[in-house]
Amino acid sequence: MSLPFLDLGALHADLRADLDAAWREVTEAETYIGGPFVERFEEAWAAYCGTRRCVGVSSGTAAIELTLRALGVGEGDEVLVPANSFVATAEAVVSAGATPVFVDVEADTLLMSAATVRDALTPRSAAIIAVHLFGEPVDMTGMAILAAQAGVALIEDAAQAHGATWRGRRAGGLSQAGCFSFYPGKNLGAFGDAGAVVTDDDALAARIRMIANHGRPPGNAHLHDCLGGSDRLDAVQAAVLLAKLPWLDRWNDARRQVADRYRLALAELPLTMPARLSGGRGANHLMVVQCDRRDEVRAALAAAGIGTGIHYPVPCHLQGAFQAPGRRPLALPVVEAAARRMLSLPLHPHVSAAQIGIVADALASALLARPALAG
Ligand SMILES: *Cc1c(COP(=O)(O)O)cnc(C)c1O
Repeated sequence: MSLPFLDLGALHADLRADLDAAWREVTEAETYIGGPFVERFEEAWAAYCGTRRCVGVSSGTAAIELTLRALGVGEGDEVLVPANSFVATAEAVVSAGATPVFVDVEADTLLMSAATVRDALTPRSAAIIAVHLFGEPVDMTGMAILAAQAGVALIEDAAQAHGATWRGRRAGGLSQAGCFSFYPGKNLGAFGDAGAVVTDDDALAARIRMIANHGRPPGNAHLHDCLGGSDRLDAVQAAVLLAKLPWLDRWNDARRQVADRYRLALAELPLTMPARLSGGRGANHLMVVQCDRRDEVRAALAAAGIGTGIHYPVPCHLQGAFQAPGRRPLALPVVEAAARRMLSLPLHPHVSAAQIGIVADALASALLARPALAG
């Protein structure tokens, strides 16, 4: 058997004809950046997320950077981000000119919370980026109260959480702005780099759109009211996303079934699964378990043909890019311990019950094998 960590081929086979049609429509319309496909996708994605506005942009990283810049967050400002995230969350903070302040996560969920953020607030704090890691929503009720009390902006990095909900409302629509990535491997993925920001704030959406398009005001290609860049969504990606969007809920349901089956099949094994918060319904982007001898277990699964990942082996606050000369990196014990133990199992809509059984058997023999005695 071989079970890849990700299987985009199986996903795309479901809608091959629609994807071919999308490509043909774009080339026939001959509009490549912005235009009707982008507008249609923006409307559809805002409606899906339950927000007034959506601005399609070039990537998830760009979505975060543009949002911070449009909020006026920059030089001299601190932005609180979890140390357990893809590096892009903190990278976008630096690109916007601000300073990331890394916070720890809760041991049971591996998510940031109001409690892990609170002590890191300072008079220079300007924003909190709530990251719905693994597709599991952060407690946004607690986070919104904290942000309001501290007088800082609250935005979401929902790059792993398409369709997730917190107390019945969709991720991305739970703060001032929700940032999405449509990188091919995400729950909703394009055929290249793509992203979006959703928000109820018309003025914020307009500023993001302007900065993403060389500072052009609406409808005028020759004026540049501020400096920006080429961070727009293109028509090919928008058409692909429009073709895939009707499948998202079905795929997320299938992901949930796979994740629930894993939870049952692995329940007796010596490993830890992240807790789910009762107010959340996750998008099940990643199935992350924690175990001892993680690298050995991972190698045993690889030998059995099972692809795995690690999200993430080196926490952001320990990455070289964020070290300052002469400054000792702060200690964030929960994320540092988890980084040595986390292992992401194959989780995509087409993982079968039989395959889950095989993964469970492979994990059981790797975890229960007695280490060979030396000598
Ligand atoms: C994928 C991802 C991003 C970055 O998205 P890109 O589209 O690759 O720029 C940001 N944050 C998180 C949590 C991600 O998983």
